[in-house]
Amino acid sequence: MTALLEATNLSKRFGGLKAVDDLSLAVQEGELHCLIGPNGAGKSTFFRLILGRYPPTAGTVRFCGEDITHLQAAARVRRGMSVKMQVPGVFAELPVRQNLVIALQHKFSGPELAREVDRLLALVDLSAEATKQAGQLAHGQKQWLEIAMAIGVRPRLLLLDEPTAGMSPEETYKTGEMILELNRKAMTVLVVEHDMAFVRQIARQVSVLHLGRLFAQGSIEEITDNEAVQEIYLGKGHHHGH
Ligand code: ADP
Ligand code: MG
Repeated sequence: MTALLEATNLSKRFGGLKAVDDLSLAVQEGELHCLIGPNGAGKSTFFRLILGRYPPTAGTVRFCGEDITHLQAAARVRRGMSVKMQVPGVFAELPVRQNLVIALQHKFSGPELAREVDRLLALVDLSAEATKQAGQLAHGQKQWLEIAMAIGVRPRLLLLDEPTAGMSPEETYKTGEMILELNRKAMTVLVVEHDMAFVRQIARQVSVLHLGRLFAQGSIEEITDNEAVQEIYLGKGHHHGH
């Protein structure tokens, strides 16, 4: 079976620093895959390589079997990649609904656009906030709006970089339920996450990055039982960061 996403021997250097170091990782169609690892492990850099925001120093990226290593970011989006990065990027001065219209207007129009926007608002529990300025939303709600904007184009692969950063435990749990629901509806999701309770809630497949390399891979049970994984986490502390 061809993986939906396949990174092979991927590396990214910043001067003398190997942020991503000979990393090979595959995501199968339909998977809900969590990427974890201490701060500085290379998770966000890996995402940027997948998205085409940085050129790799070495290695290849394949998507739906096609070599996309040298494709521009916009071409990857057209092929079905969608992302929500760590720092929220909503249009703060516009209403919530308008944010979604802007995100979806290339794909839908007329009544279909309105229907899609309504569906997404309900999915992320923002129907009651539709006319509110996005900048006035609570932090967690802003993150949900961004998730809705990312999934509105019906991507083949959804990439989420620390979707629960700064959320309360209740918001985090609710975000987990949203992601599980998306995955039940057949969306393939790759999530970078710090919060282990959240990873336990959602993850089916877990990859652990450390110093830019793939350190361990397995089910959530295998990963939480892995003493070497516990050590790299405890060694670096549990603080939340970017
Ligand atoms: P993570 O997301 O796992 O916390 P990052 O991918 O952000 O890790 O960073 C991996 C390493 O690469 C870190 O040591 C970070 O300081 C470094 N790094 C990330 N982006 C850059 C950049 N644009 N220039 C130089 N160094 C970078
Ligand atoms: Mg990061």
